[in-house]
Amino acid sequence: MLHRRWFACLMVFSVLTTSSLFATPPTDLAIDKQKLETYVASGQYEQDIAAVTHQAQAYVLATAKANRQLRQPKKLAIVLDIDETSLSNYPDMLKLDFGGTFAEIQQANDRGDDPAIQPTLALYKTAVTQGVYVFFVTGRPESGCQAAQDNLKAVGYNAWQGFYCKPKAYQSIKSAIPYKQAMRKQITEQGYTIIASIGDQQSDLQGGYAERGFQLPNPFYYLP
Ligand SMILES: [Mg+2]
Repeated sequence: MLHRRWFACLMVFSVLTTSSLFATPPTDLAIDKQKLETYVASGQYEQDIAAVTHQAQAYVLATAKANRQLRQPKKLAIVLDIDETSLSNYPDMLKLDFGGTFAEIQQANDRGDDPAIQPTLALYKTAVTQGVYVFFVTGRPESGCQAAQDNLKAVGYNAWQGFYCKPKAYQSIKSAIPYKQAMRKQITEQGYTIIASIGDQQSDLQGGYAERGFQLPNPFYYLP
């Protein structure tokens, strides 16, 4: 009986506290979409990306320079994510009104016509000219790997040392962290020192096997 009373009290308490938490309704979805469009159209999105890639570039330059001075230089590498890091899905997001089913998004990816994210392309070029190896690690499935590679080449990412698309074994795992971590581990075991992992999601940064992580802004979507 006492338990029941306690439970009833708890229910009333949680309804009261929850309702006060949501006293202000969330902002209108249409307005939020408009804000995203303004954010991109104003150039602020690209500026915010560049603020991060410039830090990464300075770090790559300094690390590569220090490495060249070593008696036995290491094989330095960076890992780049693809979507919202190296390539932009923004034109497709607009067409799909910031939504779309998994199949529609996949179809859009497979068209292979995504534009480069210019600040990341500049970072890529810095790495290449500094003799730092570039690896792509993407959450795109293996069935979309060829389209992703063709797309990257078409917009200026001409070469890479390794390219990893998500194998079937990882497709059922909700988080991308185990997959991305395992690929970085593989790269490390091949004798490379990953000095930086660059991506727009936490999964690009978590799990180790990279000396530094650089996270680019992505106000459009979150992936676990
Ligand atoms: Mg991404």
